[in-house]
Amino acid sequence: MSSLIRPEIKNLTPYVPGKPIDEVKRELNLKTVIKLASNESPYPPFPQAIEAVKNAIIGVNRYPDTDAFYLKRALAEFYNVSEKNIALGNGSNELLRLVAQSLLEPGDETIAGIPSFVVYPTITKMMGGKIKEVNLKDYRLDLETMKKEINPKTKIIFLCNPNNPTGTIVYREEVNDFLQDLPEEVLIVFDEAYFEYVEDANFPNGMDYFREGRNVAVFRTFSKIYSLAGCRIGYAIMSEELVEAVNKAREPFNVNSLAQVAALASLKAQDEVKRRSSLNLQNKKYLYEKLDDLGIKYIPSQANFILIDLKKDCNQVFNALLKEGVIVRTGEIFGSGYETFIRVTIGTREENKKFIEALEKVLKEVE
Ligand SMILES: *Cc1c(COP(=O)(O)O)cnc(C)c1O
Repeated sequence: MSSLIRPEIKNLTPYVPGKPIDEVKRELNLKTVIKLASNESPYPPFPQAIEAVKNAIIGVNRYPDTDAFYLKRALAEFYNVSEKNIALGNGSNELLRLVAQSLLEPGDETIAGIPSFVVYPTITKMMGGKIKEVNLKDYRLDLETMKKEINPKTKIIFLCNPNNPTGTIVYREEVNDFLQDLPEEVLIVFDEAYFEYVEDANFPNGMDYFREGRNVAVFRTFSKIYSLAGCRIGYAIMSEELVEAVNKAREPFNVNSLAQVAALASLKAQDEVKRRSSLNLQNKKYLYEKLDDLGIKYIPSQANFILIDLKKDCNQVFNALLKEGVIVRTGEIFGSGYETFIRVTIGTREENKKFIEALEKVLKEVE
């Protein structure tokens, strides 16, 4: 069998998910476990979304609306763009893959930062493409060096902004410079999964560049601030041609009907988005203060997670935190130079308190 599998697939490294809560409870015989590992929202879906899903569940004997008419109309109105510029996916992950499948031929190249979102290398290599991963500079995307990597084979550049796992952003002026004199055949992907959490006024909104008619695609998701990670729904705003291509390549019912109504109801509740964004800010400040008190270095973040340098072996810290019932991400998975880091999702006030208490204890134990 093995010889039947395409080498492009065989050579991929499988995605390693954050450890599930139930698994940790079982394995370590713990009653309470908190997960701060996957940048999910710690809060339930919006009440409007829960209500909408309750009402829609009775209809799931039918296939979903393949065009997601109501949701697309609402998104088009929200962004003041045409429905023809909107693609929906089973999470923005799926859409990223569909764009790669639509654009990349064997030997084509993409460019991304490293560390950045782990999906970019996977979807590039899967298509027989090559990804040029450019080291971050001061924990931020190094746009100048990324630009130098462009050659006639380059098809996609992934700008993860804010960048996962660092939480840092690139600024408007930097992106303006970057976009100047780019070859027209290169698609710039603005992956803005954490857009709604950003507080920095110098953040470049990918939509501004889309509206200027540039060759950009803006990816956003209902998985983070909208608390719908388990529903799987994300969207991209991009050229009509690319939306058409993605629609041909996708599975006809890629976005299920419950996800469609949940997203629609959530989109209408922008007050709740603002409320949760400021709650995240408050909780971020709390964590900054406590980490400062402990003399621990961290990378200031524009998202709902913080990359922390403990100056200790991250796997030891990870395992010790697990025993305290706290799941985080080890820095090791982000590549060399990050072995002493952990990435922590900002949780509820109680979760953050529990995390800080556990961390304080663990740092005394781990050499
Ligand atoms: C979480 C995340 C996403 C969202 O993925 P979904 O498939 O929409 O859940 C996209 N990009 C980045 C960088 C992320 O961290």
